[in-house]
Amino acid sequence: MRVTDIIEKKRDGGELSTQEIEFFINGYTRGEIPDYQAAAWCMAVYFRGMTRRETADLTLAMARSGDMLDLHDIAPIVVDKHSSGGVGDKVSLVAVPLVAAAGLPVGKMSGRGLSFSGGTLDKLESIQGYRVDLSEAEFRQQLRLHGIVLSGQSGDLAPADGKLYALRDVTGSVPSLPLIASSIMSKKIAAGADAIVLDVKCGSGAFMKTPDEARDLAETMVGIGTALGRKVVALIGDMEQPLGYAIGNALEVKEAIDTLHGHGPADLTEHCLVVAAHMLHLGEKATTLEQGRALAEKLLADNAAWQKFVEWIAAQGGDVSMIENPDRLPRASIVREVRTDRAGYLRSINALEVGLTSVDLGAGREKKGDPIDHAVGLMLHVKVGDKVEAGQALFTIHANDQAKATAAEDRLRRAVMLSDNPVKPLPLFYGIVS
Ligand code: URA
Repeated sequence: MRVTDIIEKKRDGGELSTQEIEFFINGYTRGEIPDYQAAAWCMAVYFRGMTRRETADLTLAMARSGDMLDLHDIAPIVVDKHSSGGVGDKVSLVAVPLVAAAGLPVGKMSGRGLSFSGGTLDKLESIQGYRVDLSEAEFRQQLRLHGIVLSGQSGDLAPADGKLYALRDVTGSVPSLPLIASSIMSKKIAAGADAIVLDVKCGSGAFMKTPDEARDLAETMVGIGTALGRKVVALIGDMEQPLGYAIGNALEVKEAIDTLHGHGPADLTEHCLVVAAHMLHLGEKATTLEQGRALAEKLLADNAAWQKFVEWIAAQGGDVSMIENPDRLPRASIVREVRTDRAGYLRSINALEVGLTSVDLGAGREKKGDPIDHAVGLMLHVKVGDKVEAGQALFTIHANDQAKATAAEDRLRRAVMLSDNPVKPLPLFYGIVS
C-alpha cells in the first residue's frame, strides 16, 4: 500500500477501505508518514467527507493506535464527557468535579485549543504544575485513589489523535464531521469510559454551524459509541454566543472557580448542571434525570464539588494556592475596556470573532507547538437580549501587547450588533440524541 494512493483516492472522492485507514493511521502514529502527507489527507477528508463506515473505522484505528484502558478493576462504571468545542466552554472544569463528588469516577482525556476553540488542557496549564501528560499507570492510579483524572493524549493513549489534533489545528482542517467525530470518540473509547455525555455545540462559535450539522455529528458519535457497547447521550447546545463571560485560559479557570463556589454566570452554571445530571443518570448514580439534577445542585451548593476540584488539582500536581486565591493565576499587564457609544438591545455576538480575537491576543496557537499566553483573553459583559446603555462596557480585553490590544478592540467592536427593539435571549440547548 502507498500513502499517496490513499491521499489521492480520498481527494477524488473514493471510499477508503478499513485496511487503508488502518495503514494510514498506523503509519502516521509511528512517524513513517510525515506531517505534510497527513495534512494533505486531512484536507482531502475535509472536502470529500467520509461515510459512517469509514468514520467508525477511523475512530477504531485511532483508539487502537495506543493502549485501550479497561477500568473495570477500579470501578464498575466510569463516566466521561466531551465537548465538540466552542468559545468560553469551560464546562469540564465544573461538571467533572461535580460528578466525581457524587462518588462516580470520571476518567477523562481532553485536548488542547483547536483553532478558535479553547482547550481544557491549555486552561488547566494556567495552574502552575498541573500535569497533562500522565502515563497509563498514573491515570489508573489517580482514578483509583481520587475518582477523578483529566489528562491529555499520551504516548500510551490515543497517540494518533494527539498527533492529528495538533496538525489539524494549524492546517485549516478542524471543522470536518468525520475528523471531529473520530477525534472525540477515539479518546473516549481508548480511555475506557462506560458512559459518555457528548456536549455538541452549534452556532458561530462552534465547528458545526447549524442544528442539522450538529445533530448529524451527534448521531454519528452516538452510533459509534453504542456499537462499541458504551452508553452515550449527546446534548446539542448553543454556541451562537460564548458560554459564560470569560474567554482565555486563566480567565476561564477563574470563572470555573466562581461557578464551583456558586456564583458563576447563570448560563454556564445551568449548562454544567444539565451535563452533570446526564452524567449522573447515565452512570447510574441517579435513577432519573431529575434525581441527577437534584444531586448535582446539592453537590454544588454544599461545596462538595469545589472540594473535589481542589483534591483533583492537587493530585495532578497543580499549585492549589493558585485556585484558592485565583488572583495568583497568570494576569495580563494591559486591561482595557471596550464601550459602546449607543444604547439598545444586544442582537448578536459573533462568537467566532470573539474566539479568534482571543487566539490573536495569544491564548491560542498559529503553528503546531506554539507557546500560548495563559493570561490573555477577554471578558464579555453582556449576553444576547441584554439591554445596553450608551457608554457601557461590552468587553474587557486582557493583553500583554499594546498593538494586539488595539487590534482586538477594533475587532470586538465589529463582533457585536445592537438593535433598537427588544431581542429574545438565546436558548441553552436545542435537543438531545440518545
Ligand atoms: N474536540 C476534540 O477532541 N476533537 C475535535 O476534533 C474537536 C473537538
